[in-house]
Amino acid sequence: MSNERIVGIDLGTTNSLVAYMEGDRPVVIPGEDGLNLVPSVVALDGNGQIVVGSAARKFLIETADHTVYSVKRLMGRGVEDVRDELKLFPFRLAEDLAAGEVLRIKLGDKTFTPPEISAFILRQLKRNAERYFAAPVTQAVITVPAYFNDAQRQATKDAGRIAGLEVLRLVNEPTAAALAYGLDKKETATVAVYDLGGGTFDISILKLHEGIFEVIATNGDTHLGGDDIDNLLITIALSDIEGDLGVDIRRNTEIVQGIRKAVIEAKIALSSNEKTVLNVELPGGKRYQREITRAQFEQLIQPVIDRTIGPVRQAMKDAGLKATQIDEAVLVGGSTRIPRVRQLVEELFERKPHSDLNPDEVVALGAAVQANILAGGSEATKEMLLLDVTPLSLGIEALGGVVAKIIHRNSTIPASATEHFTTGVEGQTNVAIHVLQGERELAKDCRSLARFDLRGIPPMPAGLPRIEVKFLIDANGILHVSARELRSGKEAEIEVQPSYGLTDEQVENMILESFDKAEEDFRQRQVIEARNEAETMLTALEKGRKNVAWEQLSSQERTNVGKLETALRAVMQEEDYQSIRSAIDALNQGTMRLAELMMDSAVGAALKGQNMDTADVGEGPESPHPIASAEIER
Ligand code: ADP
Ligand code: MG
Repeated sequence: MSNERIVGIDLGTTNSLVAYMEGDRPVVIPGEDGLNLVPSVVALDGNGQIVVGSAARKFLIETADHTVYSVKRLMGRGVEDVRDELKLFPFRLAEDLAAGEVLRIKLGDKTFTPPEISAFILRQLKRNAERYFAAPVTQAVITVPAYFNDAQRQATKDAGRIAGLEVLRLVNEPTAAALAYGLDKKETATVAVYDLGGGTFDISILKLHEGIFEVIATNGDTHLGGDDIDNLLITIALSDIEGDLGVDIRRNTEIVQGIRKAVIEAKIALSSNEKTVLNVELPGGKRYQREITRAQFEQLIQPVIDRTIGPVRQAMKDAGLKATQIDEAVLVGGSTRIPRVRQLVEELFERKPHSDLNPDEVVALGAAVQANILAGGSEATKEMLLLDVTPLSLGIEALGGVVAKIIHRNSTIPASATEHFTTGVEGQTNVAIHVLQGERELAKDCRSLARFDLRGIPPMPAGLPRIEVKFLIDANGILHVSARELRSGKEAEIEVQPSYGLTDEQVENMILESFDKAEEDFRQRQVIEARNEAETMLTALEKGRKNVAWEQLSSQERTNVGKLETALRAVMQEEDYQSIRSAIDALNQGTMRLAELMMDSAVGAALKGQNMDTADVGEGPESPHPIASAEIER
């Protein structure tokens, strides 16, 4: 391994930072301006040059249409997913977007994808680090929110690649925060990470076991943070000033941005002082001043910070833990510098939260610790592995539109699982692998992640091919799916890179919906599976009729089979899966002797494979699900 340093990066919604390990201590690398935080703002200046960070901020006032902020909200998401964000943030999307296309944002007369905008921020951080070390930096660990899905993680990796950084690992933000505090050194611990940033609130419960962190629950609010506090103060200042001046100034972006700057200064002052003066310069040499005490401020913001209580309670409930069972609480995010917020966290978890490190730096510091582990760093950190969980189940669509789950929700990642499938039609030479995410039983109710075909399977009787489908979620949370027909060795694979992402609310809704609909889903699934099985039996029976063995049955036996067949055909169109099952069982019984007689004949094996449970097809007690062919299902 080279001597090149691997840096840790917190690519935040409001602020981004880069850190590295100096000896056994992680430190943040400052920018040329001497500041640790790089505001996640990108602007295009008058000369068509990209400007990042504090320097880009002033364009927010002067040329707002040449400036983008909060781009993290758009990472890995499609046009349909971001409607809410578009209502709340002044993102200007390119108009000529086709459905399903990765969205692009207008910056002046140019357009960029969200990973490209994020890459500008990453490049700035890379430059800061290179200036600091006076050496190139090409490898990084980048943090992402624990709830980020596959597409959002992919987009973050893409941003790194575009910026010329090899992303060695994506680490969940709460896990990084716990690492920064060295909590991994404990034997076991349950850690609550409370992250209140500029525009988002995340609560995560981690479980540490033998040096391994596992995210056992996450919750939060994607529209809650310091911005809400700023807006409360701005509203007060605006109405005061309008009262004084007697004019409407809400449309005057310059004045409003000036007020925003002043209220943020006042808010920050109130985190360390008991009172401050909100001081706004107005046009015409006028000035607005108002004294604010901490008590007044706390009363004002209480409703905002109380909105974090619900998600905290829900996360603890999901983790199955009471406050007394939480061993450590960690403060993350600039807004946790507010004393009233700290007090609330202390009340919620019934213990003093860790606060020695700067809450807006702690994630980047943890990323640096992880980078050091990957670099083979110190003995102490070498052993450590960091594990996270998948928020939703993943699987594929089987015949009839049912979902065969392969990796279950809340599985620890990296994770891999293999399931066996087969064909449903005689001579079927291809299968359509439809990758799904969600908790519902039917494909139509789950989220479609990707589709690909496995082609070139030699024609075989239905049920004979052995199709092995393997799901692998790598350490970055990215899903790789491969399908292989074992008898012929034909294979196909895909890396799932969907252009649409899910919000954490949607994930939550999908889970809740699956609880609500569980009974109906179960019934529908049973009906579909019973019909599939009936279909398979009837096909086998048709073949059996053409076999010499059929002639060996007595006429009474043949009449009986005919009756059972008619009964099954009649009942299989109905919605009652139990009657379909009994009709299948009856026909199975009735054709037992036929199957026995066919054992000796050439096609016997095929019928045997479908009609009865034998070791020939599939493993274990359950016979494999058939998958529809590519042509039929499209
Ligand atoms: P993010 O993770 O969303 O990128 P940060 O963790 O950097 O954001 O938090 C930014 C938020 O923290 C902003 O709303 C900022 O005003 C607020 N903040 C920073 N310092 C303080 C402070 N001393 N007191 C109160 N709020 C603060
Ligand atoms: Mg953050």
